[in-house]
Amino acid sequence: MRVFKFGGASVKSAEAVKNMGSIIQAHDNGPLIIVVSAMGKTTNALERVLELREAGKDYQREWQAVKDYHGNIIQDLFSSDENETFLAIESLFGHAELILRQTFAEQGKAYDQFVPYGELISTTIIAGYLRQLQLKAEWIDARRYIKTDSVFKDAKVRWEVTEELLKLNLPTILKENIVVTQGFVASDLSDNTTTLAREGSDFSAAIFAHCLNADSVTIWKDVPGILNADPKRISDTAKFEAISYREAAEMTFYGASVIHPKTIKPLANKNIPLKVRSFERPGEKGTVIHLKGSEQPIPCFMFKDKQALMVIRVKDLSFVQEESLRKIFHILAEHRIRINLTQNTAVSVSVCADWDSVKFQKAKQDLEKDFEMETHTELSLVTVKNPTSNALKAALANKEAVLEQRTKSLCQFVVSES
Ligand code: ASP
Ligand code: MG
Repeated sequence: MRVFKFGGASVKSAEAVKNMGSIIQAHDNGPLIIVVSAMGKTTNALERVLELREAGKDYQREWQAVKDYHGNIIQDLFSSDENETFLAIESLFGHAELILRQTFAEQGKAYDQFVPYGELISTTIIAGYLRQLQLKAEWIDARRYIKTDSVFKDAKVRWEVTEELLKLNLPTILKENIVVTQGFVASDLSDNTTTLAREGSDFSAAIFAHCLNADSVTIWKDVPGILNADPKRISDTAKFEAISYREAAEMTFYGASVIHPKTIKPLANKNIPLKVRSFERPGEKGTVIHLKGSEQPIPCFMFKDKQALMVIRVKDLSFVQEESLRKIFHILAEHRIRINLTQNTAVSVSVCADWDSVKFQKAKQDLEKDFEMETHTELSLVTVKNPTSNALKAALANKEAVLEQRTKSLCQFVVSES
């Protein structure tokens, strides 16, 4: 059994859905689960509608735009107005409108009940379209199978129940059908809809694959595979044919955004290969993430924006030693500050972390009982793995580092955000 994942960009228009359809036709040989995101930028648009509603403002224009966008795609895809997909989509929009009129005690709960309609709608359109292509496609509701805790907007998977539900129900459906389902969405044990955080559809694909012992997962993307740098940042990029789970996980940790960071572990635990391929050039091989990595290490560039640098200094004439380090990191951990790099001198500790004004403010209050603290914002963290002098030149072009750390295999620089 294979799992395919299609992100928003791969289904952003009728043209794109047709292209996806031909990829599926070419791979219709054996059990297949297709996990799909919301179309194009629909998730952003739905977030905006909800924001307006919560601010008590008129959201009709934005909401209508979401409906028109999908309406146009359906008009293009289906041959007649009688198509059952038209009715199904109308009913989903109706349900979403009902949710918009409800009040929820918790913002996160409102978000999770409403925003996943992007995925429910996209998968309904796609399952209908695949049936029009004479493929046997069965739409399933991911919420019935992927179970989580009740932390809205960032729910944690309850692996045992999820695995049980999937193993009990999916094999029979997969014998006869291509399964089409949603990424991003799940539900808690009381059947409230939950979500796995933004960009979580890759992770959904990994959950299905892990629980059902898939042979492979393929993520179809708008890039030819995993590159050694984001082409928007570095002009001369190279594609990896193969990288190891560890290398891929490390890349996502340092800021590479090709795959969602949580995707790798559930696949690595079961040795399931993860392929990243281009939906624009489906004939090409892409990159395989598996046990074996790249043979020859080439420089690899990662960029992380929205960083801040905390400089924490001792107040008296003492030095930074085990006890003060323990205190500092304990406080940072308590406030869940995501640390990306640290460096210390005799009298100070510098910490580069994901900027979050609320968390930083709280940590500062606690730290200032024993230390002085200064914060610098609007920074980026540039990481170069397997550095060469040319690679470092390319990474730092027009940038000045406010902090740097170098080892033979890894160089990191904190620079002003460009
Ligand atoms: N549609 C969701 C998002 O845009 C989930 C995903 O695409 O992975 O964040
Ligand atoms: Mg997306």
